[in-house]
Amino acid sequence: MGIDLQLIPKVLDPLPGGKGLTNAVDYIVNWARSSSLWPLVYGTSCCAIEMMATGAARHDISRFGAEVFRASPRQADLIILAGTLTEKMSHHLKTLYEQMPEPKYVIAMGACTISGGPFYYDNYSVIKGADRIVPVDVFIPGCPPRPEALLHGILELQKLISGETIRQPRVPRPLNDDPMIDRHSADAAAWKEEDKKIQEELAGKREQWAAENPDFKAYKGERFKNVSGPKMGHTPVERSCTSVADICAAVHDKFPDIPLYNKAEITDEELAELSPQYIPDFVVGQEQYTAFISFLKNHADLNMDLLLQVTAVDWKDHFDVLVHLYSTTGKHKIFVRCSVDYSKENDTPEIDTISHLFSGANWHEREIFDLFGITFTNHPDMRRILLRDDFVGHPLRKDFEDSSRIVKRPY
Ligand code: SF4
Repeated sequence: MGIDLQLIPKVLDPLPGGKGLTNAVDYIVNWARSSSLWPLVYGTSCCAIEMMATGAARHDISRFGAEVFRASPRQADLIILAGTLTEKMSHHLKTLYEQMPEPKYVIAMGACTISGGPFYYDNYSVIKGADRIVPVDVFIPGCPPRPEALLHGILELQKLISGETIRQPRVPRPLNDDPMIDRHSADAAAWKEEDKKIQEELAGKREQWAAENPDFKAYKGERFKNVSGPKMGHTPVERSCTSVADICAAVHDKFPDIPLYNKAEITDEELAELSPQYIPDFVVGQEQYTAFISFLKNHADLNMDLLLQVTAVDWKDHFDVLVHLYSTTGKHKIFVRCSVDYSKENDTPEIDTISHLFSGANWHEREIFDLFGITFTNHPDMRRILLRDDFVGHPLRKDFEDSSRIVKRPY
């Protein structure tokens, strides 16, 4: 059975000496709360490693009563936002926060969480400040902040909790709804001006010091001669039979018109001279795309049996879909490049799927659909895979704009 703490001052304060008793209860409750913070297990990127280090033996967060990281928000009263917060995760963060019982506290750890950090500009997916999603009590700057900084943040939070009173229910800080604008340019100009003033002030002092110490010679560090170590051996890529010339010969036997990217005019001699490390990059038309991939996969010598990647490039007037294949027997690689028409009039670029040839292509193609808006016909499940279903637009297209999410880099 829970006790409604707010009844205590109502009952005690009117009594003679009752306020002192309420203050004592305040002290005990705050001491208990601040000395037994239970953080939620939460961490998204590099800052989380520092948070984990804070929990480990060297820094030992349990000295501050905050070591019981809980897997359930129902049992946590603190969430340390350690790491980059993306748009897609922000809803889940809000849910986790809502599921934590009161009183609950939030520490924003690191530049990403505080402001988007290195991802502030030109980025559609990172939240520019966790305090836009949940109320934050303590901000810890740094990229990443060291464990000592997190411990300092916990001490600051403990101070904040010690100042609370059961006479007044705690009101979380309001969410940040500042417009997302370029703050860097103004700050950079101000710092430059400040630095100029400092340098002007120092110039006189430097001259004075040089006049007072005419014999001073600055220490010049001794330079060590370059010592070359043992040469590292280079193991060439193991190949069974297939030189670039062999690959091209096998391809052109069946598809004589398919050129190499940027090497359409290459002669046989030049082809023979290409290093074994060179990865042939074939340019194929849409009408031959799936047939060509199928040929590469099933050819006895080429045997391109492993799909490494399918991705795309936006060239502004068209897209290239790129397939990267590897032969586990021949140890050679091949790129296949297929142009997909795209224009303002034809805003729904399409190309055939290769997911029936390589099951791994399934989610690569969904990723391309999500980020570039290229539809793969006959794909068994053509849906977004990274972004929310209601996301408008395709953020890896060169013409993608969204002023509600993206702050343009000013330099
Ligand atoms: S603030 Fe720096 S260290 Fe922390 S998550 Fe962002 S990039 Fe990584």
